[in-house]
Amino acid sequence: MKDLSVQLTAPNGRTWTQPTGLFINNEWVKSSNGYMITTINPTTEEEITSVYGATEDDINKAVAAARRALNDPAWRDLSGLDRGKMLNRLAQLIEENREILATIETIDNGKPYTVALDGDLVETAETIRYYSGFADKVFGQVIDTTSDKFAYTVREPVGVCGQIIPWNYPLAMAAWKLGPALACGNTVVLKPAEQTPLSALVLANLIVEAGFPPGVVNIVNGHGSITGSALASHMDVDKIAFTGSTDTAKRIMKMASVNLKNITLETGGKSPLIVFNDADLKEAVEWAHLGIMSNQGQVCCATSRILVQSQIYDQFLEAFKGQVKQVSKVGDPFEESTFQGPQVTKAQYDRVKSYVHIGQAERAKLIFGGKPINDIGNGKGFFIQPIIFADVTPQMRIFKEEVFGPFVVISRFDTEEDAIKMANDSTYGLGSAVFTTNLTRAHRIAKLIEAGTVWINSSNDGDWRVPFGGVKQSGIGRELGEAGLDAYSSIKAVHVNIKSKL
Ligand code: NAD
Repeated sequence: MKDLSVQLTAPNGRTWTQPTGLFINNEWVKSSNGYMITTINPTTEEEITSVYGATEDDINKAVAAARRALNDPAWRDLSGLDRGKMLNRLAQLIEENREILATIETIDNGKPYTVALDGDLVETAETIRYYSGFADKVFGQVIDTTSDKFAYTVREPVGVCGQIIPWNYPLAMAAWKLGPALACGNTVVLKPAEQTPLSALVLANLIVEAGFPPGVVNIVNGHGSITGSALASHMDVDKIAFTGSTDTAKRIMKMASVNLKNITLETGGKSPLIVFNDADLKEAVEWAHLGIMSNQGQVCCATSRILVQSQIYDQFLEAFKGQVKQVSKVGDPFEESTFQGPQVTKAQYDRVKSYVHIGQAERAKLIFGGKPINDIGNGKGFFIQPIIFADVTPQMRIFKEEVFGPFVVISRFDTEEDAIKMANDSTYGLGSAVFTTNLTRAHRIAKLIEAGTVWINSSNDGDWRVPFGGVKQSGIGRELGEAGLDAYSSIKAVHVNIKSKL
């Protein structure tokens, strides 16, 4: 394989060979016109390296490779068992390379190394492994109709799948999409986010090592407006799976309509976390903290609106503030004690700061944080203190709009009915959480809340075995779990006439 790569060394001393090309047909190639994107280390604001980006021409080549692979007996006729073995091998290789891959996530995204290693990398390998087990279990039904006829269904791959992923969990998002797509026998053109282009390219080498034939997986970096839109509007792509902002999802939906592509969309959220008077306060505070402050608050299902019942409101505020002070240590992501690294980019950092001003202008009560931090490492980096606004009302923009940072709003409610009304007062419907020791109330709320996920007495406690996705403007379709297979297989019905003419 012709290798386009550079040698990189991370602050933790790890060195690796970083591919910089476009990965098409199991080969590394340059972009057709030399288009490159530069990736920045958010901890130091220094350039890490540049990688090739895909133009429309390159997307044509990647899609053609994926189409050829889809119809090539080397992939098309491979048994589910053998596809599963390849996926399992890939999971194994990810585990073997987890320290390098976690290092790349940290340097490119800014997330703490311990989180990348023990969180992202475990999720990435286990998701691929989980779907490896499904590869030989994707089958149809026999349907009895009349005494003369019956029908059977077969599950076929959807075809060439374009997958567009965000920067907050670069490898895990790739795994959520590659796992089910490959288990179902599709071929893929994956576009990582331009802010975090590196880890997926290292993964590409592992995909070759795992034995996937040329063209089955193609990985092409580039900006959304160039590479992403070329993929979303391509006439020979059968499906687009997207994770990112709701605005981009709307654009992708329009582009995907050119040839009526199958779509799954996983977008933003402003997920509520409701705490009732009878909740275990310590548990509620700890989960509420994790639910919004993990991953620098850059989580689509982060529980960013905390609704607390009046009687315990003041007590909760104090305890929550104490938890943030004690646990949310902002620092160098390679330091073991760090809970919160830098925001991924200057744009995200500025966005978080702008919402501090918006909250103050709306006269919400800023009870913690919001200041930039300049005393870490070389004095640079997109570090910001975690932010807590209290006494927030549903009319305020900070109650309605997704910030995507370590930014939480806390509001008060009186009755269960008020809590449900406030929780559902959103254009989004991705995650939600309820804290109560009242069993029937917990399930009543779970039923009435408008969200794809409800956590009872926890938050953001995701699992690859459990379906994930949104209602309202948080998305279309489900990923993960067995339900994730539906997004990547198409049902063909075969009608059989057994009536004897004799
Ligand atoms: P985004 O939606 O712009 O980017 C996500 C992906 O879509 C990237 O790969 C990007 O290159 C691609 N993309 C962008 N424009 C495109 C286009 N016109 N056609 C095709 N592909 C396109 O998100 P962002 O700018 O990285 O972040 C902005 C906001 O999105 C955040 O503040 C947050 O609210 C939200 N977000 C959500 C998630 C999530 O997991 N749901 C993840 C990241 C960001």
